[in-house]
Amino acid sequence: MRQDSRSSGLSRREMLELLGAGALAATLPASALAAPEFPKGAIIRTILKDYAPEELAGGATLFHEHLSFAPDFMPRWTRYAAETRAANAPPPAPGAAPAAPRPAAPPVAAPPGPFFMTDQELMVQELTIAKQEGIGCIVDGGHPDMGRDLASLRQLSTKSGLPIVAGGGLYAEPFYPAEIATMSEEQIARMLIKQVESEPIGVFGEIGSWDDISATERKVFRAIGRAHLATNLSIFTHTGIPGKSALEQLDLLEDAGVKPNRIVIGHLGNLVDANVQVQKAICRRGAFIGFDRQGGPGDAQQVPMVMALIEAGFAGNLMFSADISNAGQMKKNGGQGYAKTLTVFVPKLKAAGASDDVLHAIMVDNPRRFLAFVPKKARR
Ligand SMILES: [Zn+2]
Repeated sequence: MRQDSRSSGLSRREMLELLGAGALAATLPASALAAPEFPKGAIIRTILKDYAPEELAGGATLFHEHLSFAPDFMPRWTRYAAETRAANAPPPAPGAAPAAPRPAAPPVAAPPGPFFMTDQELMVQELTIAKQEGIGCIVDGGHPDMGRDLASLRQLSTKSGLPIVAGGGLYAEPFYPAEIATMSEEQIARMLIKQVESEPIGVFGEIGSWDDISATERKVFRAIGRAHLATNLSIFTHTGIPGKSALEQLDLLEDAGVKPNRIVIGHLGNLVDANVQVQKAICRRGAFIGFDRQGGPGDAQQVPMVMALIEAGFAGNLMFSADISNAGQMKKNGGQGYAKTLTVFVPKLKAAGASDDVLHAIMVDNPRRFLAFVPKKARR
């Protein structure tokens, strides 16, 4: 759905200059591709205000990050993940000697002081740096069952000047409020719609299956599909064990009536496969796929997968982010910071031969095409 670049009046570089995006230009060269087209009346809803999608063309948008969790969210997550891994471990072969107990991993030392996401001063500094490094907008993928604090997001956006899109929905079964088990799909959908109508929610995400998708998670996915039809908000997902239930997540949402171009199936960079079979299958159906834990040790395996997808013609389906969730990733603690998708991962793709145009389209245009929606009701 792109216009020919030569037919548009303004080159992308000229547009970036007009928008004063000097910091971005330093990190990510401007694209000669035409600007994406958006439906009439489409907006991107951030926690402070609604933007025309064109207004966010001056920087990269990170579609899946975390700026606000309950302090106990990651400890719980780590514990449940260890339990799931143990439950999925293959049983020892008959007659095999019992495996020697593995030495326990040394505990990860948390930096002293309050949980980093509740340290407003640190978070404002980190977001200010990310903005200087070329980030134009960040999506927070939390919601109430992860202990996301909307007031905190509002403060962070106000103080850093960085637009923040707040997510809505439900995460994954280990984190669901107890009543979800007995609520009907219809009741859950109504609850989600009420959330969107009473708060400045700009997207449903991250919506997860923890392991193999469970019956309750299927119900939630169908309810999210219904809530999408009522609100037009796009949806990004979390797959737990790499790739597990990724295709079924898409089936459930499509069966509920969601168009694939409103969906990101998440964490598919973790599904390491040189042939990128599942990733391609999802792209062919028209959905986006998330390479969304970037800027770290996984990059080496994921760069060839991303290059294979670009070469197969799927650049328009790629979404990159870092899913930042721990203090060690903060600049202040020696990490690469919130912009690391752009400052660490994107240069690796460039070195592998990805063109500036394609990288610009993935970082700046794809997330805006994904997030832009025509609201069914005016913002409250
Ligand atoms: Zn996440």
